[in-house]
Amino acid sequence: MKMSRLLAPTLREAPAEAEIASHKLLLRAGFIRKSTAGVYTYLPLGWRVIRKIEQITREEMNAAGGQEIMMPVIQPAELWQTTGRWELYGPEMFRLRDRHGRDFCLGPTHEEIITELVKGDVRSYKQLPLRLYQIQNKYRDERRPRFGLMRGREFIMMDLYSFDRSPAEARESYDRMYAAYEAIFRRCGLVFRAVEADAGAIGGSGGTHEFMALTDAGEAEVVFCPDCAYAANTEKAECAPPPALGAPSPSAPPPSLLATPGARTIEEVAALLALPPARLLKTLIYKGDGQYLAVVVRGDRTANEVKINNLLGPFLDLRLAEEDEVTALLACAPGSVGPVGLPAGARLAVDSEAAVPLPFVCGANQPDAHWRDVTPGRDFPLTLTADLRLAQAGEPCPRCGAPLRGARGIEVGQVFNLGQKYSEALAARFLNEAGKSLPFYMGCYGIGVSRTMAAVAEQYGDGDGIVWPLAIAPYHCVLIPANVKDEAVMTAAAALQAELEKAGVETVLDDRAERVGVKFKDADLIGFPLRLVISAQTLAQKTAELKLRRTGAIEFIPLTETVARIRLIMEGN
Ligand code: ATP
Ligand code: MG
Repeated sequence: MKMSRLLAPTLREAPAEAEIASHKLLLRAGFIRKSTAGVYTYLPLGWRVIRKIEQITREEMNAAGGQEIMMPVIQPAELWQTTGRWELYGPEMFRLRDRHGRDFCLGPTHEEIITELVKGDVRSYKQLPLRLYQIQNKYRDERRPRFGLMRGREFIMMDLYSFDRSPAEARESYDRMYAAYEAIFRRCGLVFRAVEADAGAIGGSGGTHEFMALTDAGEAEVVFCPDCAYAANTEKAECAPPPALGAPSPSAPPPSLLATPGARTIEEVAALLALPPARLLKTLIYKGDGQYLAVVVRGDRTANEVKINNLLGPFLDLRLAEEDEVTALLACAPGSVGPVGLPAGARLAVDSEAAVPLPFVCGANQPDAHWRDVTPGRDFPLTLTADLRLAQAGEPCPRCGAPLRGARGIEVGQVFNLGQKYSEALAARFLNEAGKSLPFYMGCYGIGVSRTMAAVAEQYGDGDGIVWPLAIAPYHCVLIPANVKDEAVMTAAAALQAELEKAGVETVLDDRAERVGVKFKDADLIGFPLRLVISAQTLAQKTAELKLRRTGAIEFIPLTETVARIRLIMEGN
């Protein structure tokens, strides 16, 4: 490939909308261009990276017994209505109607379609296990499409579905996929960790893990134990229950009203009363499917919407109530809400740490006032008490008690052991060895292919550009002739490029009539792992200059040995 022909429109500045490094770099280096919010075109360099990630994925899926298929993007509503997900998927689903008035969606995922397919064509345990996958665009009308490819509304996913005859064999499929995912992300160069996760709208009974690419730019928070294997998304991580404290003391003083003018946040009230936030209760009003819920956590903790949704829902659209909704409900602002004297019939759920019989300070459901000496169970009911908070670094590991550590991550893949949720709903059954008809035991497994490209760019970006790992770099090597007007240099460069290509080294010849400095900047920005320079000086010494993008190390190699040296570097990777 010649640089003068390659559509790689590099930009000096990142467009203002790009917030995180990978988004900026992929735009600046000419890998992607935005079409509309969350929808992108992959330019030639970007598409080459995608194809390489796809290829690695394909190889590992095939090695793990997968067979590649391609399912439709357009899916009929009826299948989704049968499993209940037409409603449950909510506003994230792109819906459309045909000319006859029939409803469809653009596939956000394919459990329904594949279960229906297998139901029609697989009858016997002899055909199992069956593992089918595809690599395809998925469509989700995300509430906040952002960070470029990280959270798109159209994105590329590899999704595999497994069908087994028993829970034990389904577990085997799960374990094989888990290992294959580790291999894929390792080959892509990612630093990652698999964590226990929540199953969300996919559901299922058998457990699920997310694969997190670790980076501070990640939207997800994880905790992991330095001493045992425990690692979980903070949404899922179990919080150890507080120590048992027995009944409240009968001599504990009754609640009394305190004036707290202008103090609205936990921090403001804590500062005013000179109390640690852990002595306060935070009461949040949520709205789910038109109902209001009050949730109480300790002042120093964060409510966990996933746990709230799992305990009290599932809701189609759980969210914090708006200020005007809270005011209409309780005649005070959200900062003054408390659990004492809520309207009869209000649903109140209390986190286990906020349910201990100790005196707390909480909002009084009136402006500029708080209660002190409120004792949970005595002054407000504990009809619903559960683990409802986000785990934090420093808390005891729920398995071994060691203090947990925290990290941020980008979810690049997730594996689910589904049990019979979809096969039961869609009556997809097979005959087992005893002639008994059973719903298939299923698993589903997704990798965000386009998100993986962004995650690698995030982890491998430096001040100058992207430092692509060789395995997924758009090209392995850029070859820069120092002076395109020097015929001897150009002839040697063309000969070297031909030789490199023949040896499987994908090479771009930067034949543009640009200054060498500009070419060097573009080479760093695009992130070719290897950079060769040929000049009149190197030719005089019969050498080429080789620079490794990752380390910056430069060496001069005899021209006759250049290809062999590069092959050696590539094989060492
Ligand atoms: P998230 O929690 O980030 O919204 P998800 O859990 O809904 O993702 P899955 O249904 O598990 O996503 O999809 C499998 C994989 O597809 C994810 O692990 C992720 O890598 C990728 N993915 C999901 N949503 C998006 C998106 N909006 N843009 C890009 N990739 C995505
Ligand atoms: Mg997921």
